[in-house]
Amino acid sequence: LIKLTKKEHEKHKGEVLGANIPYARLTEVFDKIENESSRLKIISIVSEFFLEILQQSSVDKLVKIVYLFINRLGPDYEPDLELGLGESLLIRAISECSGRASSKVKKDYQEVGDLGKVAQKSKSAQPTMFKPKSLDIDMVFTNLTQIAKSTGKDSVSKKVGIINKMLTACDAKTSEAKFLIRSLEGKLRIGLAEKTVLIGLAQAFLLFESNSNRKINPEKLNEVEDIIREAFSRIPNYEIIIQAAYDHGIENILEYCQLTPGIPLKPMLAKPTKSITEVLDRFQGEEFTCEYKYDGERAQVHLLSDGTIKIYSRNSEDMSQRYPDLIPILREVMHSKSTTSAVSMVLDCEAVAWDRINNKILPFQVLSTRKRKDVDEKDIKVHICLFAFDLLYYNNEALITHSLTDRRSIMHENLTTIEGKFQFATAKNSSNLDELQVFLDQSVKDACEGLMVKMLNGKDSFYEPSKRSRNWLKLKKDYLEGVGDSLDLVVIGGYIGRGKRTGSYGGFLLASYNEDTGEYETTCKIGTGFSDEDLSSIHAKLKPTEIKMPKPFYVYDTTNSNAIPDVWFEPTTVFEVLAADFSLSPIYKAAHQEYGKGISLRFPRFLRIRDDKGIEDATSSTQVSEFYRSQANINI
Ligand code: ATP
Repeated sequence: LIKLTKKEHEKHKGEVLGANIPYARLTEVFDKIENESSRLKIISIVSEFFLEILQQSSVDKLVKIVYLFINRLGPDYEPDLELGLGESLLIRAISECSGRASSKVKKDYQEVGDLGKVAQKSKSAQPTMFKPKSLDIDMVFTNLTQIAKSTGKDSVSKKVGIINKMLTACDAKTSEAKFLIRSLEGKLRIGLAEKTVLIGLAQAFLLFESNSNRKINPEKLNEVEDIIREAFSRIPNYEIIIQAAYDHGIENILEYCQLTPGIPLKPMLAKPTKSITEVLDRFQGEEFTCEYKYDGERAQVHLLSDGTIKIYSRNSEDMSQRYPDLIPILREVMHSKSTTSAVSMVLDCEAVAWDRINNKILPFQVLSTRKRKDVDEKDIKVHICLFAFDLLYYNNEALITHSLTDRRSIMHENLTTIEGKFQFATAKNSSNLDELQVFLDQSVKDACEGLMVKMLNGKDSFYEPSKRSRNWLKLKKDYLEGVGDSLDLVVIGGYIGRGKRTGSYGGFLLASYNEDTGEYETTCKIGTGFSDEDLSSIHAKLKPTEIKMPKPFYVYDTTNSNAIPDVWFEPTTVFEVLAADFSLSPIYKAAHQEYGKGISLRFPRFLRIRDDKGIEDATSSTQVSEFYRSQANINI
């Protein structure tokens, strides 16, 4: 095998380098990671492999491999690139390909609990008449993309056909079939988090650039890890980042990975607080500002240099079709100041339902009745007012490393407000406890959730994409007496309703997301806070997602029947819930690696479904642990 250093590689640019990477090589690495528990060792397996690809092949192959590692087929703001096929389709494909009855495949699945392994087993039992062309990275990537993109009437048989072709080409002596099926399911389950992939990339590039020296200076490594994380939060696109690292060196990528209108960045997030005094303690001696915390949906507005306006959700989903009515409003806002006209921009806002007759904010529930897709302007009943609170990019310049004071003044100078359609977030700069109390009360009277408190000046006030930062605190009025905030948990199981709840689910098993392992860890069973309408709409939503077996990445107590639901669900839905407090639990599992026992929510209450959050945006187990620690008088 050829192994080229960076210099040699550059000399050979233009030639086809190591054209094919066998898929079996990738699955061999997946196997290694799956069997390894040390995070450091996993990082080194990942980085060595990425280095190998850099040395033997091309940037284009590395990009595809990175996507296969994180189980996506492109950046997450690009639509229709998600896998996550249902069990029945995969069972059908496995059965058709191996010639085994689907009832047999199903039975195996019930025994083994992993369709990937079932596919592998079926493969080994199957005689091969002729040897088809073996799979390589390009073939797998192209086929998976075709599957993700195929929609419509014949799409199921089309998908099954492509899967069949690939399964037939899998070599039974490798783990290709196992990982192919897991990729199609949407989760590789090798205990690899996306942040490890970023670190692996940073290391691989350092090794590649150092031309064979295998020892990396740890300080240098920390530095480039921060650089790549920062680059990714500004521009969450591996293709751009990897190309920049290859062309300019990993240390210099920030210069080439700037925030770009048209590519949504991951929003900055806030830490919860339980009182105004806690806020004052945190920001002691610093200048800060309080803004109304509007109760709607986050909207990141982009003006692209070709004049297009796009609106992205908290989740980087393109919501422009949902808000066609906002586009003309935004044009007016951007262009009506006589002195300047915007040519490019990224603006952080909250979209809130607005009552045009009484000129006031409407509750979140009203906003959620608005259709999510393909909204026709003439059918719109719920009007929106956008409340802008930050400007991240203006006229070809990224502003995230300007102070909030500066960003705000550029925003105010260049944009025009239109009452009830586009306004700036109401704000007050004060550090007087009484004044803040009055402002908090006023925010609630004005139909907001409370306040967002933000550092105003200096480095601490820079916009930190994707970070849950201590420089932004949320003060939610309703939760001040409780734990300071609500939690957003993934619904993984249901309990059959009895009595009044017959015919729907009576309760649910919820889980937090462990960002290190990619697993969902049980936190509580919930049965209160649901109206009858909630229960029936949740039943309609979750019934089709029922599965026979828990997913292998659900962490629950297998020995305690109290923590085992009547039915399991595919992870699709996030509930926002309130808790009285947290306790260490003998049966629940959130953050169990940290404490030996898991943490559970006491007296959980359902608030609403969070359609704007993906399952990986759920409250993490680390956050649950932070909530637990911030309770007074805990004994760890
Ligand atoms: P998190 O992941 O932080 O829990 P969340 O989506 O559950 O976020 P909250 O915790 O309630 O929401 O608070 C943060 C959200 O508040 C932001 O994502 C944004 O949508 C909204 N928001 C409303 N007003 C403001 C404001 N003035 N500044 C920043 N965010 C605001």
